[in-house]
Amino acid sequence: MKSENVTWHAANILKGDRQKVYGHKSGVLWLTGLSGSGKSTIAVEVEKRLFERNLKTYHLDGDNLRFGLNKDLGFSAEDRRENIRRVGELAKLFADAGILTITSFISPYQSDRNLARDLLEDDFIEIYLKCSLDVCEQRDPKGLYKKVRNGEIKGFTGIDAPYEVPGEPELIIETDRLTVEESVEKIMDYMEKRCLF
Ligand code: ADP
Repeated sequence: MKSENVTWHAANILKGDRQKVYGHKSGVLWLTGLSGSGKSTIAVEVEKRLFERNLKTYHLDGDNLRFGLNKDLGFSAEDRRENIRRVGELAKLFADAGILTITSFISPYQSDRNLARDLLEDDFIEIYLKCSLDVCEQRDPKGLYKKVRNGEIKGFTGIDAPYEVPGEPELIIETDRLTVEESVEKIMDYMEKRCLF
């Protein structure tokens, strides 16, 4: 259902005004990759590093959002799409608020990620956490792969649901080759190169 009789109310304080006061740009680091590739781990560490530098930052975590805003959504392709649409809109608000935002969602479909890219425009920074399925499965931090192999979970990304590898991400981090620290360092370097702070 589309909203009718609603009019956009312009703000007095613009994104640029906030960025000037905060002393840094806003942007959305969109981490994508298989379950266990390290999205949450790396996002938490990057957020910490940014926070320690007194930068405005916030981490939107896929699993955490499913406890609240997205608790009505499952894992069908349609629900995954809606999940990403909402996160894209939410991240856009955070970017507008001048915040360096990190999102950690599997976001397996290129078309859904493109939707977020279109929405966020220049603020969208797609970071592919490249990690072989074997390594993800060995790590199995939440015991999910085990459940999949026992037939307790169906439609799991990388096993019986697709993961579409990003075609042209801004950054690729090979988390099965690098340590957490090295991965975080690469992201910080990239942000600095992009003059985000
Ligand atoms: P995801 O959010 O992608 O599902 P998690 O961050 O929850 O992944 O889990 C990744 C697991 O792999 C964690 O237990 C983490 O400690 C471990 N790990 C080992 N090496 C790395 C690395 N180089 N990068 C990220 N995580 C790693």
